[in-house]
Amino acid sequence: MPNMTGWELVLDEDAVLRGQGADPATIRERSPRLVQLATKALEVGRPLLRPRVFSSHHEVKAVRHDRITLADGGYLAGSLISQHLSPAQQVVILVCTIGTALDELLSEVMRQDMVYGLALDGVGSAATEALANEACRLLEIEAAKNGFQASIPLSPGMVGWTVDEGQPQIFNLIGDKAIGVTLSDHFVMSPRKSLSMVLGLGPDMGYQGKVCDFCTIRDICRYQDHYDPAAAA
Ligand code: SF4
Repeated sequence: MPNMTGWELVLDEDAVLRGQGADPATIRERSPRLVQLATKALEVGRPLLRPRVFSSHHEVKAVRHDRITLADGGYLAGSLISQHLSPAQQVVILVCTIGTALDELLSEVMRQDMVYGLALDGVGSAATEALANEACRLLEIEAAKNGFQASIPLSPGMVGWTVDEGQPQIFNLIGDKAIGVTLSDHFVMSPRKSLSMVLGLGPDMGYQGKVCDFCTIRDICRYQDHYDPAAAA
């Protein structure tokens, strides 16, 4: 899947509420108004989603200490990278985005109704996560056909791979090919609702643990039971 469009994302009100950082069960019990806003945000926001995924495969040339050198000349480095990608024969970069249309509406709405704006933002977060989950799922299926296993998805900002380490490494590898997603001097992606990640592929990737184990907010996050470790970041 070098540059895919046409994604069907499965989203519901609970995903939107989680995208806002809220607990759906608590909100349903205490704030029916917020559930109504999530429903409205989903109806209005869904047609504005422009999900796209860029992927690029790179053969691994060498693994030395915390650095993986790729056959096409790039590299990935960091303790998280070596911990998970050392057994990999290939590395896959995935960049997922839902585009800018939702954000354009969001910036207008935020000036008039911040609570509704936060619900729209929740739609964007939920959609980006759902897209990343689906992209990883398809990649795993594709890899299995070639007798490969996939590592857990690794994103800049996880424990052992800071944003200022990881984002330049990813964007140095893919340049500006990645579906119009760009990286600022401060390592922020545009469109805002985008995710970048790296997965290793190999015949025996070993036990990788769960993505949540390497998340910087794992000690305070309430959603780890909900999270599908087989799929995403
Ligand atoms: S701890 Fe897990 S569910 Fe929570 S934000 Fe991190 S990766 Fe997501």
